[in-house]
Amino acid sequence: MSKLPVLALLAVSVFFACAEDAPKPKPVDHPIGYQDTPLLPAEKSGTWHVHDGLRPQPRVVTPGSASTPEVPGKAPADAVVLFDGTNTDKWHSGNKNDIPCKWVIEKGELISVAKAGYVFTKDEFEDFQLHVEWAAPTPPHGDSQGRGNSGVFLHGKYEIQVLDCYNNPTYPDGSAGSVYGQHPPLVNASLPPGQWQTYDIVFTGPKYKEGKLDKPAFVTVIHNGVVTQNHAEILGGTGHKTLGKYDGKTEKGPIGLQDHGNPVRYRNIWIRPLKGYDE
Ligand code: MG
Repeated sequence: MSKLPVLALLAVSVFFACAEDAPKPKPVDHPIGYQDTPLLPAEKSGTWHVHDGLRPQPRVVTPGSASTPEVPGKAPADAVVLFDGTNTDKWHSGNKNDIPCKWVIEKGELISVAKAGYVFTKDEFEDFQLHVEWAAPTPPHGDSQGRGNSGVFLHGKYEIQVLDCYNNPTYPDGSAGSVYGQHPPLVNASLPPGQWQTYDIVFTGPKYKEGKLDKPAFVTVIHNGVVTQNHAEILGGTGHKTLGKYDGKTEKGPIGLQDHGNPVRYRNIWIRPLKGYDE
């Protein structure tokens, strides 16, 4: 055997021995968040990184009982009913209207199916009032972003986070009632997993002039009867560890519901278009 392969073997062994002895990285102080993400614009969301784990946790507020009925309420007379427990005719999977909704209905509830992907309304909306009821899985599994994660996507691109935030700390801008990655909820109005929770969302979409942003989107979110977003300015498309931009053209879009691998349940979904909807 020549000396060369022996030396190479020696070098490899020394490398692995050193790698094993190398100091392990220090544990992160705040494992629920990040600081290696883009900085949010300070004047609009405070001096924080996207998903900053150092951001204060939202104060817990136990919601009143009137906002969380045991049975779904009736939609207003002029609402477009998106899901009433009987069918998914208003929804599709994937990016095309001709792919039937892959989520399932059980006992009048629309259930997120893992790996089935997001579902979207066939109709598109511009400005609107939206009502959604949801329940996180019980018993709860996982923690932080892994517990009861789903989301309501306005125009299919701005996520109002759905998450089981009952005794489940996570990075604040990923909490239930947040504009994901941008604005934490003003308070944590979460109910225990398994209980029905309500979102009432008032949304004004972005307006463009000649391909440039004229007015950003704004959103007000009421979670279980408690305001979590008060006319908050949306900073662009939402995403994980990113700060999106406005695309300069899309002034309307569908409502989307997120499959994040957890069987979150939905019921009683209706919308009242305020602008830009043709029946
Ligand atoms: Mg989500």
